[in-house]
Amino acid sequence: MSGKRKSIENKSAGTENAGSECETVRADKGGAEKERACFGKEGADEGSADFKKKMKNGIKALGKAFENLFCGEKLTCVCCGADVFSDKDFCEDCLEHLPFNTGYICGKCGRAIAEDYPICAECKADMPSYDMARSAFRYEGEIVRLIKKFKTGGRYLARVFAQYMYLNLFSELKDADCIVAVPMTKEGVKSRGYNQSELLAKEISALSGLPFLPDVLEKTRDTTAQKTLTRKERQENLKGSFRVAKRRICRDKNIVIVDDVLTTGSTANAICRALRGAGAGKVYLLTAASVAKRERDKTAETEKDYENLLN
Ligand SMILES: [Zn+2]
Ligand SMILES: [Zn+2]
Repeated sequence: MSGKRKSIENKSAGTENAGSECETVRADKGGAEKERACFGKEGADEGSADFKKKMKNGIKALGKAFENLFCGEKLTCVCCGADVFSDKDFCEDCLEHLPFNTGYICGKCGRAIAEDYPICAECKADMPSYDMARSAFRYEGEIVRLIKKFKTGGRYLARVFAQYMYLNLFSELKDADCIVAVPMTKEGVKSRGYNQSELLAKEISALSGLPFLPDVLEKTRDTTAQKTLTRKERQENLKGSFRVAKRRICRDKNIVIVDDVLTTGSTANAICRALRGAGAGKVYLLTAASVAKRERDKTAETEKDYENLLN
């Protein structure tokens, strides 16, 4: 401020009618300079504006703190509700017990397997179309409850899951170019209020910097009748149910399909085929959770029952 004042004073010193600093500079330099020259007044204005701004920010921060305190989104564990005295979403106890998918996994589908084999028996029997699938959690225990919550209004969980999915992306799907989400029909989005896969994809895009390409995929018809079908019938039913609306964008790109849960993999396979048809390079699948075969056997006798449990 003092340097500015000095230079203005120097300018005004040479003029005849130096009634006030403001007027002098106005004569010399015009309106814009005058604005800057009235440092005394402007300084006060600036100070008060600054103060007002600070107050406003302070009140906002205080409001947010109260909101967090009472709504508990940040200060309590998103899993058990216990107080969390850090910026983590889970308390220490939950972090210790949540089924992170960090044990032996199938190199292809990423599902948990009992022993260190390169590829699981399921993939061996029926090789998936995608290049590689990875998931942050195993679909069991508290994660089953959290995924259900995520699909029934708990959209804030997208941010929580995405952080862990991003770690998979960062460490294993390094050559990915862009992200797409498993699409829902318009009616589906309308009834749920959102597409959970799209919420995840947007969060992962923000974390990774990889572009999320909305509207690249379209679900051409409702396939919810899937639940009552056998595996073979389901694959038939899905044929042609996904369409690549923007084919040119997909050409030679390594694309990550984002979804909430990997169950049978039929949906991912159908989308993968559609993307390959549009000239995509590698196709990956990234999900919040995946269902290991043994869990499927435990939870339900048939895949049909299992899908019913999920939806
Ligand atoms: Zn907890
Ligand atoms: Zn596998």
